[in-house]
Amino acid sequence: MTSAAAVRDYVETHIDEVLADLDRLVRLETPSSRRDLLEAALPQIEAYAVERLGEPVARARHDGGERGDVLDLTWAGSPGVAGTVLSLCHYDTVWPEGTLATWPLTRDGDVLTGPGVLDMKAGIVQTVWMLRALRELGASHPAVRLMLTGDEEIGSAVSRPHIEAAAAGCLVTLISEPSAGGAVKVQRKGTVFADVTVTGLESHAGLDPYAGASAVHEIAKLIPKIVALADRSKGTTVNVGTVEGGSGRNVIAGQARCAVDVRVQDPDEAERVASALEALQVEDERCSLEMYVDHNRPPMNPTPRTEEIVALAHRVGEDLGFPIETQAVGGASDGNFIAALGLPVIDGLGGIGAGPHARHEHITVSGLPRQTALMAGIVELLAAE
Ligand SMILES: [Zn+2]
Repeated sequence: MTSAAAVRDYVETHIDEVLADLDRLVRLETPSSRRDLLEAALPQIEAYAVERLGEPVARARHDGGERGDVLDLTWAGSPGVAGTVLSLCHYDTVWPEGTLATWPLTRDGDVLTGPGVLDMKAGIVQTVWMLRALRELGASHPAVRLMLTGDEEIGSAVSRPHIEAAAAGCLVTLISEPSAGGAVKVQRKGTVFADVTVTGLESHAGLDPYAGASAVHEIAKLIPKIVALADRSKGTTVNVGTVEGGSGRNVIAGQARCAVDVRVQDPDEAERVASALEALQVEDERCSLEMYVDHNRPPMNPTPRTEEIVALAHRVGEDLGFPIETQAVGGASDGNFIAALGLPVIDGLGGIGAGPHARHEHITVSGLPRQTALMAGIVELLAAE
């Protein structure tokens, strides 16, 4: 038996404090693009964690440049327990400043809604309460390292090297990104993004039709070629999400652009699609094509060690009285970077809810004790290994 059920009871008993903590973090508006707000919020998040858990034994803050800084805090494990568990959380959200004015954290029965509550401020609060509960219950646990990043929603360019270095030194990385119905995520697709720009020659469509070269017509010919790069049998999807171009009905278009989102399960597919995109050409020689391809995140596939830790999660689920499902999803997270290095990572341990990045974003209050207990149970079993 693990202490998971006792952790669940502990969090249930303290649920008012847990909810107050969540309100405190949701009140800090932290849009990824606002360095000033992220910079102001991070010391407050740190103060919160230190109030709840005491001074960490190790602390580092890494400059994020124009993006949010990375904060890295480690609290000691039980005497005689080796190793460290990494809890990776991002404190940036997709919500712009001012969102709170019309949408504060609001509870209606079991539903708690607010900007960033699911993605992923609940995950930060759960990590803090997991360690609090394990200590309070006298359960053995490894050291817990909480890494807070501020650029996850915009690709993690700044935090990625810090995440990779931290994960390499830890037993496992646990990520409290949103959970759908309590399932954990062990497989995520990788992403490739492309921005396609065609430049043509403008002219009057009536007076001078043959002098122009339409960028709109060229991008319209490119789009079916881009879409055809999808391969359903390999799990590769392609979406042209936006198209824009031209300046008027009677103007032969000088400019056109489209934004492409590619998701892959197989790492080789990222290479295939990226090189095919880079090889595309316009048909009209008077037009030019600019193709910017960004291999944003590699696919996340479970390693053998990840499978072993999933088995631990199943044991915790038995103690808690519910089966733990595993899920493969199309959305990427920072777990993708970690899995690509062959390191174990379990994702989707955060709030149970729905609507990340949507106005109906919410978690269930009843999911908080359960998810905190799941994470605690995994951490405790790692200490016993
Ligand atoms: Zn997230």
